[in-house]
Amino acid sequence: MNFVVIGGDAAGMSAASRAKRNNPDTDVTVLERTMDVSYSACGMPYNIADPESEIEDLVVRQANVFREKQNINLLTGHCVESIDPAKRTVSGTTLQGKIFKFSYDKLLIATGASPIIPNLEGFDLPGVMALKILDDGRRIKSYIRSNSVKKVAIIGMGYIALEMCEALRARSIDVEMVKPRPVFLPWMEKQLSDIIKKELERHAVKLHLGHQVKKIEAKDRRLRVICTDLSLEADMVLVAMGIKPNSKLAGEAGLDLGVKDAIAVDKKLKTSDENIYAAGDCADAYHVVTGERTWIPLALRANRAGWAVADNVSGKTVELPGVAGTAVFKVFDLEVARTGLTANEAKNFGFDPEDVVIKSRSRAHAHPGASTIHVQMIGDKKTGRLLGTQMVGNEGVSHRINAPAVALHNRMTVEDYCQTDLAYAPPFGPTWDPTLTAANQLLKNLA
Ligand SMILES: Cc1cc2nc3c(=O)[nH]c(=O)nc-3n(C[C@H](O)[C@H](O)[C@H](O)COP(=O)(O)OP(=O)(O)OC[C@H]3O[C@@H](n4cnc5c(N)ncnc54)[C@H](O)[C@@H]3O)c2cc1C
Repeated sequence: MNFVVIGGDAAGMSAASRAKRNNPDTDVTVLERTMDVSYSACGMPYNIADPESEIEDLVVRQANVFREKQNINLLTGHCVESIDPAKRTVSGTTLQGKIFKFSYDKLLIATGASPIIPNLEGFDLPGVMALKILDDGRRIKSYIRSNSVKKVAIIGMGYIALEMCEALRARSIDVEMVKPRPVFLPWMEKQLSDIIKKELERHAVKLHLGHQVKKIEAKDRRLRVICTDLSLEADMVLVAMGIKPNSKLAGEAGLDLGVKDAIAVDKKLKTSDENIYAAGDCADAYHVVTGERTWIPLALRANRAGWAVADNVSGKTVELPGVAGTAVFKVFDLEVARTGLTANEAKNFGFDPEDVVIKSRSRAHAHPGASTIHVQMIGDKKTGRLLGTQMVGNEGVSHRINAPAVALHNRMTVEDYCQTDLAYAPPFGPTWDPTLTAANQLLKNLA
């Protein structure tokens, strides 16, 4: 069997490796347009924070290991430009300008996503950067070093922008952030997002909300972000305005696209073509709470979907139930986490949401070093189902979110959650875990 994979990072290399493990006789070819494969994009902000580290430290497995030890035909510098589903071929051009064509029995599209760069003046100036692939991280590191960057303007306030904010401050670089919408983290309960805002201000990050960016200008070796009624001067600009799925190839090949133009896949990761799968940031997924298609581009799903594709092309039948949208990130000394739906999303999907926000502690009452954990929990008045949870705190948040995430996968009610046997010892939390305190309170409100 001839299995061809487009894209050589999380989803693509997971699939390629597992397909070979499942059946060493399968011919596996991976076509990757850059020279980098199998790296941790998620580690880039932390790597950028440390001038002593090399961006190459983030490479999980070197290309030659895939080639020599796993017998995968891994071709870097190969950009796929078209898919012909009828003839079962993919074609493209190498970095050296050579045209190539490969036939497949089964194809996986694992092309990831790209940063959204608005079509405005100045977004192509040197020093205006986005952070998505390893080469972006490499360029940002080198730009900071060779231009002695003292100040960065970040356009956007999503989780990558916030992680980068911390990374840049760690290098004593001043940061100002700007975004067009007036609300800081629109998906987050305000009481919780205000805590993050304060944390940013505590670290001297200036936030400018509600300013539409018009253009970027270069002047006297500096850059100027020009907004409706504000202009920010900086040595470097980071564009972090979100990402979009790399689904153009699939769309042009006639495959169905779904939510936000991500490639539509079923639970087996199959596209609308019998022989083509899609996995990772380029593809959609089912949401375990709503049962509807969604697009939540995160690393675990990409790896898991890659495995599932490999199993399916190897003759097993694997169906993925979907995602709960569980995510966690760090903003200076804060851990921020969410799983499931926000109250607004719940309303939009036809639920009748009720929510509570509670304050609890990261350690037991008399235990030294405790800090506050804020929990928002959302349930459905009609069915009593747990719908989502958000949390912010200095410690004990990142892994604690996994309990409500598992509850969502199992469609538990808030009442069921109240009866779960969660761990307790004084250094790790109060007797009633903060999520149990939230659930107990929410249950009263749902009655
Ligand atoms: C800074 C940063 C921090 C992140 N932090 C987290 C985190 O903390 N937690 C989390 O869950 N997720 C995080 N993510 C997201 C996570 O990295 C992605 O979800 C994951 O990498 C998706 O894997 P993928 O294989 O689908 O896509 P990608 O990793 O984007 O890989 C796609 C590959 O396809 C290649 N490609 C694209 N088009 C073509 C073509 N036409 N021909 C050949 N090759 C092509 C690309 O060059 C790329 O190598 C972060 C991402 C970034 C950028």
